[in-house]
Amino acid sequence: MPVLSSKPYRVGRSKTGLGLFATQPIKKGSKIIRYFGPMLDCNKKKDDAVENKYLFQITKRWTVDGSVRKNVARYINHACKPNAESDVSTRKLKIVIRAIKNIEPGQEINYDYGTEYYKEYLKPIGCKCDSCEKKRKKKLAEARAEKAALKARAEKKALKQKEKARLAKQGDGLKAKAAPTKKPTAKATSAKTTSRKSTKRGTPASA
Ligand SMILES: [Zn+2]
Repeated sequence: MPVLSSKPYRVGRSKTGLGLFATQPIKKGSKIIRYFGPMLDCNKKKDDAVENKYLFQITKRWTVDGSVRKNVARYINHACKPNAESDVSTRKLKIVIRAIKNIEPGQEINYDYGTEYYKEYLKPIGCKCDSCEKKRKKKLAEARAEKAALKARAEKKALKQKEKARLAKQGDGLKAKAAPTKKPTAKATSAKTTSRKSTKRGTPASA
């Protein structure tokens, strides 16, 4: 397992506030940082009453309270398609954040917080991670395209109806002039669309 010489990260501004960013290349599989804090025993009333966003449950009994200042790993944001993961040792009661992809300097480090956290904290406000933003943008673009298509269709229909009305009016005029003689069919091919349509329109009305 590769060991990094110095801390390969720094706290910096991210889309959603603060985040943890790589300052040097981090190889896939390497340990980045430990997620730590006081160990809470859910069998103790006092411990069980602790409530914050940084609780990390290790076993049914033990939970790490990561809200302490020293726990720099608490700055790592959630992502649905992350470049790191939380590696939990239930035996040692330890949590290590490990790279699951090669991470380049400047890239934000993130891991999947899990479905429980997602449901409780992210779903209500909408996940802001890259893959969710991308999905949202794609959906928006699709919705916009669909709206535009609907509008175009409606405009086309309106135009057609207008044309229909115009032709009907014209047809009435022609019928008044040309009635009762029928136009010779031989001329139909060379005739203009308007006259062809007008004869078609005229017939059911006179019948
Ligand atoms: Zn997401």
